[in-house]
Amino acid sequence: MEAGKFLTWRVGDVSITRVAELGGAPFPSTFMFPEATPELVRRHAWLRPHFAHEDGRLFGSIHSFVIESGKRRIIVDTCVGNDKPRSIDAWNLLQGPFLADLAQAGYAAETIDTVLCTHLHVDHVGWNTRLVNGKWVPTFPNARYLFGRREWEHWSSEEAKHRDGDVMADSVRPIIDAGLAELVDMHHVLTPEVRLEPTPGHTPGHVSVRISSRGEEAVITGDLMHHPLQCAEPDLANNFDVDADAARRTRREFLSRYSNKPALVLGTHFAPPTGGWVVAAEQAWRFEIRPPHPKTPDRR
Ligand SMILES: [Zn+2]
Repeated sequence: MEAGKFLTWRVGDVSITRVAELGGAPFPSTFMFPEATPELVRRHAWLRPHFAHEDGRLFGSIHSFVIESGKRRIIVDTCVGNDKPRSIDAWNLLQGPFLADLAQAGYAAETIDTVLCTHLHVDHVGWNTRLVNGKWVPTFPNARYLFGRREWEHWSSEEAKHRDGDVMADSVRPIIDAGLAELVDMHHVLTPEVRLEPTPGHTPGHVSVRISSRGEEAVITGDLMHHPLQCAEPDLANNFDVDADAARRTRREFLSRYSNKPALVLGTHFAPPTGGWVVAAEQAWRFEIRPPHPKTPDRR
């Protein structure tokens, strides 16, 4: 098994496991951030070696997190998916081993009871469905799929134009048609240990996922940040934010809220080691992969 294929963190009684679909190769920073030159990336030396190449390109990842809380098995975000026509080459008609990897990590699709999409972008809903005999069917037949009500209202509206083929048609509507979807509000509580935290801006109904157990805390970012570079440069424009100003406000609030706290931050597109801590640094923040707090557990 490739090193770092499955990372697991424990937060009190909860476990969180990362199962990756894509990542590894560095990409030009301008793919995400039009103003991020290689020089700007290189200025933040702490990004190397995990999050940036020395030439200034960035490392990222597309992965799911599976949360085990009590008897519940919750998959957070479902990546790009196989067989889907998409405009980004690396995502187009993908044929990847994600479901086999998920099973290998101990989470066969039929054992998942909850699917949660932090938002309805193409790389967060893909494995909601899979292609069987020419039809898109739910990948997780025994799960309730939680979609943000605000998010669904936005993306199902006439004005919303999707840039990546008909994402709603192949990855969201089949779930609604199958009766497996539940539209939830942005403060939804999933279990006594897992709840949503509203972080709008990247998309109108975007949420993060807060995990609290036995006094320990973690949060899954979703796309309020795509890369640790944004801790140091929280105002960087991003190619994928629907409302850039709201996204900046949310990012700054989030970074202040979690800065210098013993709360494990799990980045939805952060390359391995993926989890770390937000610490105040200079005018902004930094993402540290070692706990700044001696009591913060890291029993990976
Ligand atoms: Zn997104």
